[in-house]
Amino acid sequence: MSEDNPVVSEGKVVVFHYTVSDEDGEVIESSKEIGQPMPYLYGTGHIVPGLEKALDGRSAGDEFEVEVSPADGYGERDKGAPSTVSRDQFPDHVDLHEGMHFTAEGEGGHEIPLWITGIDGDEITVDPNHPLAGETLNFDVEVLNVRDANDEEIEHGHAHGPDGKSGH
Ligand code: ZN
Repeated sequence: MSEDNPVVSEGKVVVFHYTVSDEDGEVIESSKEIGQPMPYLYGTGHIVPGLEKALDGRSAGDEFEVEVSPADGYGERDKGAPSTVSRDQFPDHVDLHEGMHFTAEGEGGHEIPLWITGIDGDEITVDPNHPLAGETLNFDVEVLNVRDANDEEIEHGHAHGPDGKSGH
């Protein structure tokens, strides 16, 4: 392992472009559409496990595709069935839209992640499953850069932009 060509491992920041598609090849999201590559502090578990594993040991210039099963992605649709709640369960000032993610407080005060999947007048359909749960995903990845994380990034547990200087 030469320092001229660092490989992805814990404590490195990997900067990469990705396009994620569903089983039918339909593009769900692409960093190229967003207009900037994703900087990621490797090993923090903030990306799906299947992509995390596939990035291990890569270096700048690598391009690869990886198929990620639900188990290595956003999980199965096993968090229960969608339900319908009334609009007045939400704060008035919040502009609700489909795909919106929020957290509800469940019994004993533990937090339940929910996604809005339908809005019909005052009836709001919420789903406890991630919108991509149950989906096999295909990631198309291009590694642009691999570098050491700086102290501040390690302390914060996330990358500060491609160059490590977009801190806060
Ligand atoms: Zn930070």
